[in-house]
Amino acid sequence: MTPMTDHPVAAALSAVRARIATAADAARRDPRAVTLVAVSKTHGADAVRAAVAAGQRVFGENRVQEAKAKFPEVRAETPDLELHLIGPLQTNKVKDAIALFDVIQTVDRPKLARELAREMARQGRRPHCWIEVNVGSEPQKAGIAPSEVDAFLAACRADYGLPVTGLMCIPPAGEDPAPHFRLLADLARRHRLPAVSMGMSGDYEAAIAAGATHVRVGTAIFGSRPPVG
Ligand SMILES: *Cc1c(COP(=O)(O)O)cnc(C)c1O
Repeated sequence: MTPMTDHPVAAALSAVRARIATAADAARRDPRAVTLVAVSKTHGADAVRAAVAAGQRVFGENRVQEAKAKFPEVRAETPDLELHLIGPLQTNKVKDAIALFDVIQTVDRPKLARELAREMARQGRRPHCWIEVNVGSEPQKAGIAPSEVDAFLAACRADYGLPVTGLMCIPPAGEDPAPHFRLLADLARRHRLPAVSMGMSGDYEAAIAAGATHVRVGTAIFGSRPPVG
């Protein structure tokens, strides 16, 4: 059997970590201020275990059911693992999401905020909530419009008592992401939110230059995924 540390995921992880360090240096930022969220969606528990063996502790999944099937077992072996939800959350999955995730990055509407608050009270668990911002103001896309972040953040706190600690975005495809990254970082700064989640395999260095505290990298670590069908 191949030892876990010789797994291709181990080499890919160290390459991504090196590029994060270089990008942080270039931006005169402390590399430790950038957290790598390893996006393991579509990949099995063995790929996650290989990443854990290579020192990775923070993971992202975009579907509640998939994460529920994959993570409880790995987590029992690795208690300091941190799991982020980075995909859309339907209200009927809120209960599972609160039970499973440490950070919910995709809070994007009042009804969801209300359900999250209700379920947190029921379970006595308070995962961090980050607001997804529709930085490109794309009509079909999830997220709060940049001009609405103020009001939504205030409602999340005052009306629902949610522990909101960050912002996340997925910039429009086919555009230079840099201005969108700067917009998100600027919104976070203005609202004194410590976490700024932006940047994927193709653009995490640009995100770090703009101030990302969390980059969400899947393909560059785990390889390509089967096409969505
Ligand atoms: C899949 C996904 C990622 C990772 O994308 P890669 O291009 O594979 O690095 C990051 N963020 C979100 C929201 C995703 O759904």
